[in-house]
Amino acid sequence: MAFVPFKPTHLRSAPPRLLTFSTHMPFMADVLFCAKYPFTRSARELMAEKKLTLASIGGDAVERAKKRVMGALKEGEIPKFIDMDDVAELELGAYAVSRILLSLVKNRYFINRYAVAESKRASAYLRDDSAENVLRVAGEIGIRGEKENEGYVMPVVDYLLYAPGAKDYKLINKPLRSGAVLLTKREFTRVLEEAVRLGIERALPFSVPEAPGLLTRAADEIRQEGKGLEPKYEAKFEGGDFPPCIASLVERLKMGENLNHTARWALAVFMLNAGVSVDAIVNLYSFAPDFDERITRYQVEHAKARGYKMPTCSWMRSQGIGCEPPCRLSTPLRYKGGKREESPEAAK
Ligand code: SF4
Repeated sequence: MAFVPFKPTHLRSAPPRLLTFSTHMPFMADVLFCAKYPFTRSARELMAEKKLTLASIGGDAVERAKKRVMGALKEGEIPKFIDMDDVAELELGAYAVSRILLSLVKNRYFINRYAVAESKRASAYLRDDSAENVLRVAGEIGIRGEKENEGYVMPVVDYLLYAPGAKDYKLINKPLRSGAVLLTKREFTRVLEEAVRLGIERALPFSVPEAPGLLTRAADEIRQEGKGLEPKYEAKFEGGDFPPCIASLVERLKMGENLNHTARWALAVFMLNAGVSVDAIVNLYSFAPDFDERITRYQVEHAKARGYKMPTCSWMRSQGIGCEPPCRLSTPLRYKGGKREESPEAAK
């Protein structure tokens, strides 16, 4: 299997490309592809052909863009269109405008929640799409892969960049061959979903000089309507301040960062062992951009019922979620009232 070298170009924060190009009419199939996957190179090129500029953005595209953003913020999803043919071009424009609006609003929680919804929408299309289109999307966002039998193969190095944090996706649980990992279609599209999410998160916000009133007004409306959608977290650790590792996880979560599975698990186990209620923990996780109350509550209650013990500081360090700044403990639970109670082992 020969993989061509590539650069993960979508990871670079690039300003929006809104201008230039020729006038040939794209095929409808291409317009549909671009509307389903508006983050791809083809979509950017098509938008350039359409000569979309800040001044030329119309009210329809702004209205649709606002719906797209508010759908992501309120429902956590951007619906698929049943009859995409009629609205494909408008949807493509709405995607570009959504990114501009979010850049004007400049709210990290909103951006991350939108990125999750947009990547899930793409994933829903990918699951039903042909292998040719799945590989086209992968290639256009800088991910190498090939079809093999019923599944896909991709280089381990690409896989490690975008594999979800869940246990099933740990490399140790995946079949490997000659530097490549073998995946089912569902797994391959899940990896693409993660790459799309990260690409959108990292590219926003960008600078929007001299935005017309139509856009600034829509951005203000999103700010207004978005008030109250950001969760609040009030729970306190009975021992006082959180240890640095946990405080950092809480802060990252509150900024709307999509913590990986290990970090979420460690945080929940710490909170449970510190006596924080299930309700308060669920409330804390409501900051997660992919928050689902029913699933979160089930997982936290499950962790409580299993009585998981807090892992050690050395385990936390081994997972890259401990010690910023470092304190010399054996377990984060020994951190009391902002003071560091050194463990006998650590004090040696
Ligand atoms: S030493 Fe332990 S409690 Fe302190 S930051 Fe590191 S992992 Fe957290």
